[in-house]
Amino acid sequence: ECKHHQVIIIGAGAAGLMCALTAGYRGRDVLLLDNAKQLGRKILISGGGRCNFTNLQTQPSAYLCANPHFVKSALARFTQWDFIAMVERHGIAYHEKTLGQLFCDESAKEIVEMLTTECDWAGVKIQLRTEVLTVSKTETGFELHTSEGHFSCESLVIATGGLSMPKLGATPFGFKLAQQFGLRVLPTTAGLVPFTLQPEDKSHFECLAGVSLPVTVTSASGQSFSEALLFTHRGISGPAILQISSYWKPGEAVSIDLLPGLNFVDWYKTISIESPKLSIKNALSRLLPKRFVERLQEIGAIPDKALNQFSKAEVEALADYFANWSIAPGGTEGYRTAEVTLGGVCTDELSSKTLEAKACKGLYFIGEVVDVTGWLGGYNFQWAWSSGHAAGEAV
Ligand code: FAD
Repeated sequence: ECKHHQVIIIGAGAAGLMCALTAGYRGRDVLLLDNAKQLGRKILISGGGRCNFTNLQTQPSAYLCANPHFVKSALARFTQWDFIAMVERHGIAYHEKTLGQLFCDESAKEIVEMLTTECDWAGVKIQLRTEVLTVSKTETGFELHTSEGHFSCESLVIATGGLSMPKLGATPFGFKLAQQFGLRVLPTTAGLVPFTLQPEDKSHFECLAGVSLPVTVTSASGQSFSEALLFTHRGISGPAILQISSYWKPGEAVSIDLLPGLNFVDWYKTISIESPKLSIKNALSRLLPKRFVERLQEIGAIPDKALNQFSKAEVEALADYFANWSIAPGGTEGYRTAEVTLGGVCTDELSSKTLEAKACKGLYFIGEVVDVTGWLGGYNFQWAWSSGHAAGEAV
């Protein structure tokens, strides 16, 4: 026996749910399949349990993609304002945390409940605990062999996400399926992920675990972010580092301005006139976490003397040290802790308007499985909503 539906969506995450409800409202007969026993698990754990569901400043330049224009169409047709309107219709209270990032006041559960309710209203059938084993092309569509029997459909949407957090059930299913149908898949790596340090830096800084400070970090390619850096037992993390990790290539160094916005030489002049006998350590501790300053002194990066004992050249060298603190990471923590997967189904293979594969009518790829990765801050969910909506309008 083979159960037929007009549309089958594989993956009931952010993108799959949005696609399903959009297609359902158009009167399509939609089945949403997932191998998990719970819907939208990534939404539930996102944003520390409060789901950073979009960003007020969503714009194409906040996305990494081999073709930077690809995201424009979908983002323009289902915007952050469209998603916010849905959140408001459901009476979900939210707030802006920082930098345009919108979070639920209460719980990410509300977002999953909202999407499930909408799917219900739209007449979508949802079937969990169903693993898709194989997919084949038929004359009129696709046939799926699953752990729960056979299904057929005219339109098939792949919304199986990326490889990050394998503990939550991430699988390479979508990439393999793309390859099976002859679509190019760009190499995947972990994005929005903490850096590990090389042995010497690790021994210098692991004792600082928990210390955090505002910085501006710049990649070798020139991309920069001004947010917090956090020292950890394994290396460095915090929003600034997660952001830059998506732009980092193995072997490269990142440059960190430890005193962003400060003219160090001017600051030094003022404070050394005020308190000439103050130690440089105590002076710097007014600007930076004390433990960090002490550690820099212990490793010999900062001399141990009073402000009036510095030559002009020494002050300039210090200014340069703080403005261009260079770290060459040993690597990243990988998919285990990464928030997203860089790379994926090559966008040249897809219509930017509908997300349909150009060479395989009826087959769609949406969400993180596609080579589109947003910055930290709600941009990844917005891509899931926008791409899910675009395909939902087309299937
Ligand atoms: P997913 O949400 O990963 O959904 C894929 C679904 O497919 C899953 O339900 C999975 O079970 C199912 N599946 C996989 N393989 C199969 C298969 N073979 N058969 C059947 N089903 C399958 N982004 C933000 O914008 N804001 C945040 O606050 C945020 N916080 C995050 C926190 C963490 C810890 C992590 C890991 C990520 C976070 N992200 C955040 C990123 C965001 O979660 C993802 O970009 C987004 O979930 C991608 O949506 P998706 O629908 O493409 O994939």
